[in-house]
Amino acid sequence: MRYSRDPITLSLFDLLKAGPGPSSSHTIGPMAAGADFARKTAALAPEIQAGAGGVRVRLFGSLSATGKGHGTGPAVVSGLAGCAPDACAPALLQRAADPDALMFLTLPQGRNISIGPQIIEYGPVRHKHPFNNTLIIELLDAPYPLRRNGQDASAQPAGRTDCRSLPRDESGRSPAGAGNVLFSAEYYSTGGGFIRRKGAKREKRCRPPHPYADMKEFRARCAESGLGLDELLMENETALTGKRPADVTAELDKMLAIMRDTVLRGCSASGALPGNIGLRRKAAVLHERARSLAPFDRALCLFNAYAYAAAEENAAGGLVVTAPTCGASGVVPAVLMFMEEQLGLDLKARRRGLAAAALIGFIAKHNAGIAGAEVGCQGEIGVASAMAAAMLAHARGFSVQVVENAAEIALEHHLGLTCDPVGGYVQIPCIERNAVGAVTAYNAALIACNENPASHKVSYDEVLRAMSEIGRDMNAKYKETAAGGLAVCLVEC
Ligand code: SF4
Repeated sequence: MRYSRDPITLSLFDLLKAGPGPSSSHTIGPMAAGADFARKTAALAPEIQAGAGGVRVRLFGSLSATGKGHGTGPAVVSGLAGCAPDACAPALLQRAADPDALMFLTLPQGRNISIGPQIIEYGPVRHKHPFNNTLIIELLDAPYPLRRNGQDASAQPAGRTDCRSLPRDESGRSPAGAGNVLFSAEYYSTGGGFIRRKGAKREKRCRPPHPYADMKEFRARCAESGLGLDELLMENETALTGKRPADVTAELDKMLAIMRDTVLRGCSASGALPGNIGLRRKAAVLHERARSLAPFDRALCLFNAYAYAAAEENAAGGLVVTAPTCGASGVVPAVLMFMEEQLGLDLKARRRGLAAAALIGFIAKHNAGIAGAEVGCQGEIGVASAMAAAMLAHARGFSVQVVENAAEIALEHHLGLTCDPVGGYVQIPCIERNAVGAVTAYNAALIACNENPASHKVSYDEVLRAMSEIGRDMNAKYKETAAGGLAVCLVEC
C-alpha cells in the first residue's frame, strides 16, 4: 500500500480484462504467470531446454491458503500449456484440474514436458517474499512425480488447504519435488489479474499528455484542458498504447458485450456451484420472481439478479471482466445492465460510463490497492461499488465533481470490509456482496447527483487514504486467507 506521485500509466484494458473466474489474483494472475513462464522457457538456451524434464509450481501466502477453492493450480497449469486468460475455455481449466488428463509445456523443438495439478505445491501462508500472493515456477532437470505411491498427489479436499499438513523445509520447499532447478521465476499476483516477475523491468510507457496521480490532479487536468472525463482518458489511452480512438472504442464495446453476456448466461443458469459448499445458483429465481413484484421491489430484485448472475458465473469459472477484480466482477455489470434495461441509457452513455469506472479503479490501484489479499474486500467490492457509482453518474451527464462524490460515497461505506471467503471459495459472502455493492453504487450515485456537489466534505483521495491505512492495519486472517471472520465462524458455529 502506497501513496505515489508518479503519474498513472495504466491502460483501460490493463484494468478491464476478460478472463476466467473465480479470482483475478488467484486465477487470471497465476494463469498469466504460467503463460509468461512458458514464453521464458522457450527462450532459454537450447542446452538448458534439452536437459529439462519437469516443472514445479510453489504457491505462497493467500495463493496457498485459498488456492484450492480459487482454482489457482488449474490456472497456472493452463497458462503453462499456453492458454491466455481471455481465451481460456472452461473445459480447458477443468482438464487442467484433472490429475489423469495430462497437459504439456511444449518446448520449441517440439518436446513436451508433462504437467498436471500434481505439480502444484502449497507453501507457507506466512512467508518472506515481498508480496502476499507469490508463486515460484521452476523448470527441473527430471520429471516431477505426477503420481505418488499410486495415488493422486492432488487428492486433497477442495477449498482451503491445510498448509500445516504438508511437509516442507524452512524455505517452504516440499521434499516431494524431484530434480534440480534449471531455471526459475518468482511472480507476484498483485490483484485484478496484474502480475510482476521478480527482477523484470517495468514496461516503459510514455508520460501521458494529461498526467495525474489522484482525483484532485485529474480534476485539475480536466479544468486546464477543457476536456470531459472520457475525452481526457481517451487522449491518454491513445498516447499510452498507440491505439487509434476507434480501436479503443471497439475494445470498450467488447468489454461491455462480455459483461452483458456474463449476466445473461448467469440469469439462465441453474444448479449447484462448484465446490463442496453445495451453494445453489439464485440469479434465475430472482430474475423470474422480479416480474411479479411491485415496481420498486421489482427494480431492486432485478438489480440483485444481475449482480448474482455475473458473480455466480464468476464462481463457476465462467468468462468475466475484472472490474476491478473477478471476485467483485458482478457489481459493474449489474449496474450496466440496469442502465441499459431499466434506465434506457444507450451504448454511447454506457461506454462513457465505463471509462469513468476505469478512472476510479486506476486511482484506487495506484494509491491504495484492489486485492483482497492486500487490503481486504474493501479494495474489491468497495472499489467496484465506487467504480459503478461513478459510471452511472458520468453516463447520466453529471460533472467530474459529482462523479467523484458518487465514487467516494460508495467506497466510504465499504471501509473496513474484510475478505473471509467460506471454504476458500469465491461464493459466500462474495456473491451476495456483489449485489449489495451494486445497490450501494446506485444509491451513492443517487445521493451525489442530488446533493450540492460543493457541500460534499470527503474527497475520493481521502477515502482511499483511509482504505489504505485500514488495509495496512487489517489482520492477515481477513485478507483472502479464509482464516478468520465468516470463513471460520460459519464452519465452527
Ligand atoms: S470476500 Fe471479497 S475480496 Fe474476498 S474473495 Fe470474496 S469478493 Fe474477493
